[in-house]
Amino acid sequence: MSFKGPEDFEVLVIGGGHAGCEAAYSSARLGRKTAMLTLNPSRIGFMSCNPAIGGLAKGQLVKEIDALGGIMGLNTDRSAIQFKRLNSSKGPAVRSSRAQCDKALYSLNMQSTLRELPGLSIVEAEATKILIEGLQVVGVELRDGSQIRARAVVITSGTFLQAIMHTGLSQQEGGRLGDVAAKGLSGSLRELGFRLSRLKTGTPPRLHRNSLDYSKMAEQFGDAVPSRFSFYDKSAVFPYLPQVACHITYTNEKTHEWIEKNFDRSPMFTGIIQGVGPRYCPSIEDKVKRFRERDRHQIFVEPEGLTTDEMYINGISTSLPADVQEQFVRTIVGLENAQFIKFGYAVEYDAVDARQLRATLESKDWKGLFCAGQINGTSGYEEAGAQGLIAGINAALSVRDSGEFILSRIDGYIGVLIDDLILKGADEPYRMFTSRAEYRLLLREDNADLRLSPRAIELGILDSEQAEIFYRKQEAIQSGREQIRNRFFYPTEKTNRVLAEAGSAEIRDKISAEVLLKRPEMDLSKVQELSRKVAEGEEDPRPVLDLSGVSTDAIEQIEIQVKYEGYIQRDLELLEGLRKSEEVLIPSNLDFSLIPGLSAEIQGRLRVARPETLGQASRLPGVTPAAMANLMIFMKMNDRQVAQ
Ligand SMILES: Cc1cc2nc3c(=O)[nH]c(=O)nc-3n(C[C@H](O)[C@H](O)[C@H](O)COP(=O)(O)OP(=O)(O)OC[C@H]3O[C@@H](n4cnc5c(N)ncnc54)[C@H](O)[C@@H]3O)c2cc1C
Repeated sequence: MSFKGPEDFEVLVIGGGHAGCEAAYSSARLGRKTAMLTLNPSRIGFMSCNPAIGGLAKGQLVKEIDALGGIMGLNTDRSAIQFKRLNSSKGPAVRSSRAQCDKALYSLNMQSTLRELPGLSIVEAEATKILIEGLQVVGVELRDGSQIRARAVVITSGTFLQAIMHTGLSQQEGGRLGDVAAKGLSGSLRELGFRLSRLKTGTPPRLHRNSLDYSKMAEQFGDAVPSRFSFYDKSAVFPYLPQVACHITYTNEKTHEWIEKNFDRSPMFTGIIQGVGPRYCPSIEDKVKRFRERDRHQIFVEPEGLTTDEMYINGISTSLPADVQEQFVRTIVGLENAQFIKFGYAVEYDAVDARQLRATLESKDWKGLFCAGQINGTSGYEEAGAQGLIAGINAALSVRDSGEFILSRIDGYIGVLIDDLILKGADEPYRMFTSRAEYRLLLREDNADLRLSPRAIELGILDSEQAEIFYRKQEAIQSGREQIRNRFFYPTEKTNRVLAEAGSAEIRDKISAEVLLKRPEMDLSKVQELSRKVAEGEEDPRPVLDLSGVSTDAIEQIEIQVKYEGYIQRDLELLEGLRKSEEVLIPSNLDFSLIPGLSAEIQGRLRVARPETLGQASRLPGVTPAAMANLMIFMKMNDRQVAQ
């Protein structure tokens, strides 16, 4: 059944967290009449936990969000107080950007962007029920019993559904400190057949800036020359804010003793917390228990902003009782006189089984109903934002029957994230790692715009000014590559002397600047310098390689493309097979029990996951190559029968 209106909005987004912001922003940017429903408008874009955006693999997600016209990268650039490119000495596949942000500013900047966005309304209310007619979502019911009608609803309720916060053995309802819990929506989702699970995440204490002894800790600075997150932030002023340092210290044996002595007061170990926590980002009590052999754990002391006194103590997330937190924190070097502004706590909340969603993040059963962010079992602002963007775009497309926007694993980390979620679900909070991506040399953060922006330009979510920036960069790369292909070094005595002085082997044949650039000791500035030296004093200097007009990000692209050409080519060939299998659609009504040779177990797995493509089916846990062969033969035979 299709929507019968009249509606208040075309797209309604429940939630103003990182998923909700991207969903509402993308929907409104695509011209849909959009509303964002939130329990607390002053907390829109609020960073519930650490005051940072990006990090390993997360940086890639933010760059992809930005390349697709999302808001997180731009907002980070405006709010950051320290920029750092992680793994900068390693290969380009694992380099990731991270920015420490002024937490209050991040949230305020996000709010002002959204408030000024044409077509977006912000509504303070709690959604308690999803309204359905036939198989179509038609809006939501609010706590006061009133209704808001919409053609598509995106749920981004984060850590709020039936949320309980724990500090020691005491509990309190609430999605995070200072916010209430959302009650009602979980029941409505269950009625719609969603399978819900209980997950948990935790946060460390916040300490008063002036109570810490920084002279005992190592200082950690950001990059001397910071680089922007956004490909499309071209304002002359950068960075926007003064840049600050963080500090490093460590736990020690005394700290661990205090924690261990109080295991019996930890809600994690006494069975009070039932939700499953993130294995890769454990609480300090978990670390002490699981890694007994380690006598210390690293801690980063990070300012939460330029004007606040709150320091975020990264690495000691905890839900131990307040008095235990005071005791163990004060055993740490530099924190001996720590004054607590907030104690650490854990939060338990309901999440849906993302296997019930399609790659658009729409429900497989209910048309127009989308879920994105922490509700799908992920953890992290970036993972949430990435899903919010895809759900927002698809909700916007769906309400006008304008097609679908799907990213596969070969398109980007966002594709990897969604593919993992919808095929495997999340039995513990899911976070992104570079190791989750098969073709990570292709899915680098530096080329996210080259990979994805053409699609965003086609959608219309990147505007003409942004498109212009993109095309200019693309042209600069092309013309730069042409230049280096067509500038040659000849095997003269002079050339070989210049090469020897630069510590590079001599040449016996004419070679292009491009071939010279492939040498490990070379980069484009060195190749240009060599070219200039070789031409110096010559009567008829051969054309000198001069890329002075080419932007630094285009130069970086040229270097990576040339130096890693062989590996990139190999990955491109490998992913062709995957691309083909993604293009073969499995009919949504296919009865897997009719396929000869499929075990009952594999039939069951296929029935639960309902894969949409052959590629998806092949990645389901337990689906063997033999089962795939049977599935493909069956689909081919059925196709033939239909054709006859
Ligand atoms: C205690 C704690 C610790 C965390 N630790 C980490 C960590 O270590 N590492 C990490 O990466 N991430 C951590 N996070 C998670 C991080 O905050 C989330 O991943 C991220 O904020 C999720 O974004 P989201 O948009 O999905 O949801 P949220 O940011 O949680 O936003 C949810 C939004 O939905 C709204 N909402 C919910 N229900 C309703 C309703 N029924 N009606 C109307 N509005 C509703 C809320 O008002 C809010 O605006 C932590 C979060 C908390 C609370």
